[in-house]
Amino acid sequence: MRPSSSFLRSLVFALATVGAVNAIEVDAATFAKQNFDFIVCGGGTAGTALAVRLSEISSFKVGVIEGGKYHKTPQGINFADVWNNPRNLAGRSIDIVRGKGLGGSSMVNLMGFLRAGKVEYDQIGHLGNPGWSWNEITPYFMKAENASLPTKNETEEIHAGYDPAIRGHRGPIQTSVTSWFSEAIPPFFDVLVRMGMQADRDFNDGTDANFVWPPILAIDPDTETRSYAANSYYEPNAKRKNLVVLLQSQVLKVELSDKKDKNGNLRATGVTYQDMTTNKTYTVSVKKDVIVSGGGIQSPQMLELSGIGNKTLLESFGIKSRIDLPDVGENYQDHLISFQSFDVPNTMETWDILYDPEKNASAYEEYMQNHTGVYTAGVSVISYMSLNKVVDAATLENWTAELDREFFARNPSPGRRLQYAIQRKRLDPHSNEASIEFYAAPSNAYAETRERNKSYMQIACIPSHQFSRGSIHVKSGNPLEHPAIDLNTFDFTIDKRIMLAGTRLGRNLTDKMPLKQIVVNDVKPPANTDTDDEWNEFIAQTASTPFHPCCTNSMLPREFGGVVNPRLVVYGTSNLRVADVSILPMILGTHLMATAYAIGERAADFIKEDYGVLH
Ligand SMILES: Cc1cc2nc3c(=O)[nH]c(=O)nc-3n(C[C@H](O)[C@H](O)[C@H](O)COP(=O)(O)OP(=O)(O)OC[C@H]3O[C@@H](n4cnc5c(N)ncnc54)[C@H](O)[C@@H]3O)c2cc1C
Repeated sequence: MRPSSSFLRSLVFALATVGAVNAIEVDAATFAKQNFDFIVCGGGTAGTALAVRLSEISSFKVGVIEGGKYHKTPQGINFADVWNNPRNLAGRSIDIVRGKGLGGSSMVNLMGFLRAGKVEYDQIGHLGNPGWSWNEITPYFMKAENASLPTKNETEEIHAGYDPAIRGHRGPIQTSVTSWFSEAIPPFFDVLVRMGMQADRDFNDGTDANFVWPPILAIDPDTETRSYAANSYYEPNAKRKNLVVLLQSQVLKVELSDKKDKNGNLRATGVTYQDMTTNKTYTVSVKKDVIVSGGGIQSPQMLELSGIGNKTLLESFGIKSRIDLPDVGENYQDHLISFQSFDVPNTMETWDILYDPEKNASAYEEYMQNHTGVYTAGVSVISYMSLNKVVDAATLENWTAELDREFFARNPSPGRRLQYAIQRKRLDPHSNEASIEFYAAPSNAYAETRERNKSYMQIACIPSHQFSRGSIHVKSGNPLEHPAIDLNTFDFTIDKRIMLAGTRLGRNLTDKMPLKQIVVNDVKPPANTDTDDEWNEFIAQTASTPFHPCCTNSMLPREFGGVVNPRLVVYGTSNLRVADVSILPMILGTHLMATAYAIGERAADFIKEDYGVLH
């Protein structure tokens, strides 16, 4: 089993039964006959939030086409599709996972409900995107959230900070911090505080770097169940007559008008989809907008299948080009993650008990009866650091000079230069912007090294912003074929250097008190891993991604590589929008779920405003 999958399976505990569902499922033929104002292609994190907000306007009729089912009891990543990319990281395939079902990836993820630092949203604004700065996007994070005050225990033991002024209190997504945490984790927290990380702040207050916190999680603390797009946005509104959800149907393409309007734009006229239970295809028409919300991987695929993308590439697969937009599927970014596992005393209870059938059964019973215990656990410590905490100034200066040489030798486009200028500032030895994330979890990341009756902890290192850019494109004209994913990992040497430095620091932390006191042994990599070559080989053989594919339909001016404008309208169209994490122009130094909700919320207000109904 791959480490990432093992890790995730061991991590996603706080999942429990979602109540009975209203009758939402229309059949594919009935759906095609409806008279929709809006059609949302993909009922995921952003798509569900957007559709529900649009349906607040009773005169709007909103249809959602979702490829998966409504999984009433989401469990781990078992509902996710896994795709392989055979070309990267020492020739190894990496699984790229996303949730398929109503709620999308919010249904399968690790529930972190996290904002990046203020500076990062402001940078998106500075890239030519009015309306997206920290001050402008914060109300949408708040609109999505219903935050709970941490308990006294959570404040004292795991330093859960809370600032009610910047958190949401009336939104659909219930948030809290983990109420069950292992004794193996506080020593990691203490080491980071001794390194100078700030504690006791609200995780989502816009602080960018050099802090350590328990992450805010999308868990309803009353029931200790996952709060996600389907059960929290959709279900309370499922009875709305003007909101219609079609499940198990895959969008094949967006239909575009034959002729351009007076502004030279094509109009989205409808959507063609395939009922995956009967394999029949249908076309449904739309009166106002089509919104593509398939996520970072499939939104560019939907555009390309509709003839929007790089003309030469599309025509090579027999797809008729309608709008030549070469940056669709480009600028692909993700994080990379490396895990290290350590033995800790087996008197410490860790998530590893769940691999013991008897202990697992009793933990499950405890959860089902009382909603307490290890089944309610989530990640309890995350830290973001600036690079100057990881490498010295002289090294950073050398790396920057090397990067400049590599970057400018490629004759980069004006758009790439803009992004580069922003990213490069983080290499300044005085920068206090987030560059590396560390988190610890009480579990062995590597199933093949797990032994019965032993306890483990893992330290994960995630560089926050890679300089390398990959791509995601169709690999044929067949809409049911998965796209080709090219992460292009370590295209720039500095990405490899930062990952190496961060992973080494992860190991070094275990030599510091009080963590040193509880780490019994290095499990993987072994303690004799020493030279750069050995560490690089370990990373090449084990690194994965935390599943944050994004930026493949970037919101940028068209001349800078943009696919959508700041109101999320696809260039060359009048009424086709994209709303999901594919619109981010640069990956954020955080996990992306809360931002996906904020994008869905933001898109809903843009649309309401455009149709004169935003009150
Ligand atoms: C295993 C995992 C763990 C993660 N952990 C965290 C975490 O702890 N915290 C965090 O902040 N982020 C996490 N993330 C990332 C986060 O969940 C995603 O970035 C975010 O949810 C993406 O939202 P989205 O709306 O862009 O896409 P999604 O939520 O992925 O929605 C896309 C939807 O479109 C549907 N779809 C796609 N193509 C079609 C088509 N052709 N026709 C019909 N439907 C289609 C899909 O089925 C899906 O429902 C994790 C992701 C994964 C996969």
